[in-house]
Amino acid sequence: MAEFDKKKYLRAIPAVDETLKTPDIQLLLRRFPRTLVVKAIQLLLAQRRTRVLTATEETHIDEETAGKITANAIEKKVREITQPSLTRVINASGIIVHTNLGRAPLSQEAIDSMVHTAQYYSNLEFDLEKGTRGSRYVHVERFLKDITGAEAGYVVNNNAAAVLLSLNTLARDREVIISRGELIEIGGSFRIPEIMQQSGARLVEVGTTNRTHISDYRNAVTDQTAAILKVHTSNYRVVGFTSEASLAELTALSDEFTVPVLFDMGSGSFLPAASVGLADEPTALDLIKGGADLVMFSGDKLLGGPQAGVIIGRKKLIDAVAGNPLARALRIDKLTLAALEATLRTYILKPECPDALPVIRMLTVQEADLKKRAVKIRRDVKRLIPSLGVSVQQDAAQVGGGSYPIHDLPTWVVAIDPSPLTATEFEQRLRTGSPHIISRISKDTILLDMRTVFPEEVSVIAGCLRNVMTGAGGQDTIGH
Ligand SMILES: *Cc1c(COP(=O)(O)O)cnc(C)c1O
Repeated sequence: MAEFDKKKYLRAIPAVDETLKTPDIQLLLRRFPRTLVVKAIQLLLAQRRTRVLTATEETHIDEETAGKITANAIEKKVREITQPSLTRVINASGIIVHTNLGRAPLSQEAIDSMVHTAQYYSNLEFDLEKGTRGSRYVHVERFLKDITGAEAGYVVNNNAAAVLLSLNTLARDREVIISRGELIEIGGSFRIPEIMQQSGARLVEVGTTNRTHISDYRNAVTDQTAAILKVHTSNYRVVGFTSEASLAELTALSDEFTVPVLFDMGSGSFLPAASVGLADEPTALDLIKGGADLVMFSGDKLLGGPQAGVIIGRKKLIDAVAGNPLARALRIDKLTLAALEATLRTYILKPECPDALPVIRMLTVQEADLKKRAVKIRRDVKRLIPSLGVSVQQDAAQVGGGSYPIHDLPTWVVAIDPSPLTATEFEQRLRTGSPHIISRISKDTILLDMRTVFPEEVSVIAGCLRNVMTGAGGQDTIGH
């Protein structure tokens, strides 16, 4: 490796001020704020410096690196650094409720309702009959009561907030009994023990990791006991030699000692699991009917709505929760409320089959339809990139969102042989391309799972695969 004189090239890199004086760059300043243009120039100059410093041979220094910074390059950079960062992706991972990809996509009704609420004024907290101040919660509480049979309902920012608020309201400075088998951590550092600590409640752990009996709870009740907390072990299962206290046993104990039973369901579901092809788990309705005093769940997991925390249960307890000053800090915003109301309305209007909700559609879609999507992509690929090895295969998708961790959904995938690229390279190029595609890798093969790909996305995928093969960035044809 021949050393060469880098100083010459480093000296040739112009200063920001000097670059700004160029006439065509002066013109740029009429169209973009000066700070933005300066930032773009600084980035371009820094890039040059790095290129010179990392070059191992003089021939690596191309004309662009040695020449002037052009107005074109600056404008391109300005556009690049002002691109929205939050952008659309195609979810071909097969994980329906994918927390990192925004969980539940919303129904058209929910989207329309958000748009109207965002664009105009609304009766958010205004009683149109009386002409006086109203409550933002009435819009969703009526539907929550009708759907679940609960006496009352309340909503906050997310389920973590629902758990925090409920414990803080009912158990601050007092004891909450929980099974050792339910001290869960879910993604994003949500740990039940830590939430309880923040709420001011004292944790009383009972039983063992795999077995907790009703007698364990009974032995832990003291005059300091404020509640019994049951937590759905969303993202894992203890299998084998296990046992847990049933809701019936817990509510009997709760009646005997007059302490409420709180149930953190995680992923709230209104539909019998079997009706959406899942293994049996209690619905929110089952828990209310079974005597749980407060039930908490997320709006954007299996429910298929926006990020929200729903609390349903006894009116007396809900009133206490709503009256907690902390409730204001965890308040749901109006756009979320609009989307949640529309989502609940779908359950009211089509209780058996709320397939206006994308999550429900993805759960219940026919396997034959998934296969059709995969076959269409294979056909497109054969035409566009005949050299790429693709096949259509059966595989297993996941519900995600910490629901049904051991339950796989049968699905169809497009399987791609990434060669000459490695699977990791191929996956990375799909992910950073435009539109971004999130795939999964299995045994050095790229899998595109059709269960989470929207029908209208199917036709753009072959083009993205071609861009991966040619190394092109691609065109954003689906908007962001
Ligand atoms: C997902 C989950 C939460 C947190 O819900 P967010 O809406 O993400 O705040 C809490 N508890 C359980 C059991 C969960 O599965």
